[in-house]
Amino acid sequence: VKNLTPITDDPLVTYRKVAEGRGDDQSILRKLTRRIRGCYRWYDKRKPELHVSRGAFHPSFTDDEKKALIHCYVKAPRCFAETKKEIRRLIDVCPYCTILSTQTLDHYLPKHEYPEFSVLSQNLIPSCGTCNFPRDFRTKAGERALIHPYFDTIPQERLLVATVRMVGDTADVTFSVDQSGCKDSAPGLLYKRHFELLKLKERYRKWAMSANGVPTIFSASMVWARGKSCAEVRQDLEIQASLDEPRRGANDFRVALTRGVAGSDDYLDYCLGSMK
Ligand SMILES: [Zn+2]
Repeated sequence: VKNLTPITDDPLVTYRKVAEGRGDDQSILRKLTRRIRGCYRWYDKRKPELHVSRGAFHPSFTDDEKKALIHCYVKAPRCFAETKKEIRRLIDVCPYCTILSTQTLDHYLPKHEYPEFSVLSQNLIPSCGTCNFPRDFRTKAGERALIHPYFDTIPQERLLVATVRMVGDTADVTFSVDQSGCKDSAPGLLYKRHFELLKLKERYRKWAMSANGVPTIFSASMVWARGKSCAEVRQDLEIQASLDEPRRGANDFRVALTRGVAGSDDYLDYCLGSMK
């Protein structure tokens, strides 16, 4: 997960511009301007927490108003394309998973439930297609489960663990989250829920394993380890992880995998043995 700094448009100016460009819906949208301003204030006040419960805040829109607000995004006028482009330019890699490149914009608060935020830039997250699938941003119990890349605190402690082991002649990698070492429990818990919601356990594993069951890290770059002892390779990998960590973050899955490989005697023995 990666933090991002949102673009600095004036959201109400953006809304007005979009509304003016929306042909038939123009008059409905114009009449909603004052209420939208109130909604934007609510969003602003509730960040970074964005508690799931709306509390007393429940703007009720008629079906026509809802449709007009959703169409602001779905049938956006040309003037909104520039805003979208600007948001897409914030980052190349999806901040939710950090595996794939960004292809879409995700509505953090979904537009069908929160149509008032359909064109609010702070609610639009550049994201890959896989993370932006139809899903809730909450657990079934109603707790927030998706990290907001603009406003949430991403834990700096190492929570993501990759365990590498040999099963017969095949290497296997398992990713898990251990948030017990997190000083502040709330961000650690949110990180764990985020990991579960976006199925990162399976997606990281898939990334780590090549077709023949060898973690990609070695199949791509085994040459450097040739002729070295197990201890030397382990040390090299630990150095590599320490160099990558400040740049990629403590919970980057590649860094976790490097550490996982370094910590697996079975796997290192197997790799070095197969090179002889
Ligand atoms: Zn993603």
